[in-house]
Amino acid sequence: MIPHHLSFDYLKRTITIEHVLAANGLTAALKRTGNRLVGPCPLHGGDNPNAFVVQLDRNLWYCFTRCGTGGDVIELVRRLGHGSYNQAAEYLASLGQCPQKAYAFSTVVSSPAVASPAFTPYTRHLHLDPTAPFLARKGIHPATASRFDTGAYRGPGFCAGSIAVRLHDLHGQPLGYAARRLDPDLIRQHGKWKLPPRLPKSHLLYGYHHCADDSRNRGVVVVECPWGVMRLAQLAVPAVALLGTSLSAVQCRLLTRAPTVVLMFDGDPAGRQATPRASHMLASATTVRTVLLPDGLDPDDLTDGQLREALRTAFP
Ligand SMILES: [Zn+2]
Repeated sequence: MIPHHLSFDYLKRTITIEHVLAANGLTAALKRTGNRLVGPCPLHGGDNPNAFVVQLDRNLWYCFTRCGTGGDVIELVRRLGHGSYNQAAEYLASLGQCPQKAYAFSTVVSSPAVASPAFTPYTRHLHLDPTAPFLARKGIHPATASRFDTGAYRGPGFCAGSIAVRLHDLHGQPLGYAARRLDPDLIRQHGKWKLPPRLPKSHLLYGYHHCADDSRNRGVVVVECPWGVMRLAQLAVPAVALLGTSLSAVQCRLLTRAPTVVLMFDGDPAGRQATPRASHMLASATTVRTVLLPDGLDPDDLTDGQLREALRTAFP
């Protein structure tokens, strides 16, 4: 049984669409005319000033252009990226309990407590060696490794015997570490990467907090793995990693804040398959360019010169 304060009916009656839009900083472009708020659609990010209409007295919204759909306050929150109906309900309940506090969408999506109730951030700082030969082979300088809180971990526990990479939420708050295994037997059995259990991966973009402003102005390169982000950071190119190839709706929304998104996935079957899919998701809201790497090569396999050349037309 859903607790009363989380019941959909109760939330729909008590939390207004206007409140949700205000809490997410989305009201500035909307004009009030009578019973309605009208303006560009904050969901698909267009600029048609008549696209999006909120019927205030009925607490319903509609986008007449690209979205071509509408609904109640729950549906709005879901489309803002809060995933399931239950997550949307939890978010609305949090708004209802603290009407003064404006919980922004981005704060909430990056707050593991809401994004994934079962995930607990690990906030302790591990001592890591940024001069690890593994990183040198990837072309990652010790200064970069330090800046990204990455290096060989020589202690016991989750990261034992691996290269640890610190993970952060969208605002740079630590979430724990990803461990890149080095032991070939372990890699054969379990794969290269070990991520914290229940990490809300689909709500994160690795490296985002390092380059959020830069990427909004200049654009951003999307890679699969943290090494690519670090290598590109050394070339002063804003980059984020998906920690895989799947692009979620939340990640998509964050990326489309950039004027240009360059997809540079690994030159393997997974990367090849994911590129058109991601491109299709992003293309309605921003300019997408794709860089196809040679077979068998990842961004961190290229030299600085080859990386620059690969990005020459896509990210001038
Ligand atoms: Zn729309």
